[in-house]
Amino acid sequence: MVQVNNVKNILTVDVEEAFHRNDLHLSRRQRGLLGGRVVEQTERLVSLLRAAGQGGTFFVLGEVAEQYPKLVKQLAADGFELGLHGYGHRLVYEQQEGEFLRETQAAKALLEKLAGREVVGFRAPSWSITQRSFWALRILAAMGFRYDSSILPAKACLGGVNRSNPLIHRRAEADIIEVPPSIVSIGRFRLPFSGGLYLRTLPYRFIRHCIRRLNKKGIPAVIYLHPWELDRELPRLELGWKGRYALYYNLDTAQTKVEQLLAEFSFAPVCEVLKDAYSLCGP
Ligand SMILES: [Zn+2]
Repeated sequence: MVQVNNVKNILTVDVEEAFHRNDLHLSRRQRGLLGGRVVEQTERLVSLLRAAGQGGTFFVLGEVAEQYPKLVKQLAADGFELGLHGYGHRLVYEQQEGEFLRETQAAKALLEKLAGREVVGFRAPSWSITQRSFWALRILAAMGFRYDSSILPAKACLGGVNRSNPLIHRRAEADIIEVPPSIVSIGRFRLPFSGGLYLRTLPYRFIRHCIRRLNKKGIPAVIYLHPWELDRELPRLELGWKGRYALYYNLDTAQTKVEQLLAEFSFAPVCEVLKDAYSLCGP
């Protein structure tokens, strides 16, 4: 690994199927065609991380843990940090507080049972903790989550809070640390660059520039990946242009970008990067 600085960045992975995207309205048949690939896709990403000697946090969807318990056990046995990505990939602001609590609690218990350790990190689907659902932070803290990584500090299609603090910070609503995905400010405009469709769309040299800019100030970048975004063989569905863009754009080059990132920067799980500033995960 060629490191350009001593800053450890945070690498996160949302473990889900491609059909879990909330902006696609897929039929049961289409979901079936895209599904059943998460184990292989996640193993591919794990191989890249291991080959590069890098670590990360895997936010696992409750549904995926239920269907593929061996995958969770293997991630835990491989020493990766596990977080929860909700149960069924429903948008938090579309849920009632009671149902969010019940299904999150059940998914957390399942993940902890499979992993054999406490799960203290949470990421909501599609950045859906917004002004409409900040109540979720209080529920998460009461449930024992120590950090959240659900507030995108920019406006996105389904979520995001444009004025939210873009740096890692303690929330006012509850005793919980927020670990937002990285953005870059261009004048008054905030652009996410650090994962998902943004990472697939933006040129590698721009992403590298943004990470270096943060690292020069001693700030870790927070990257997020979906295993299916490295799947060149993802079945092609007949969708409108928006759906095709969201699902398939640059799938053939995403893995190269991830390999470049892993070769150039140092990455670790959330708890490891934050261990000096906040004691999140015990000894
Ligand atoms: Zn997701």
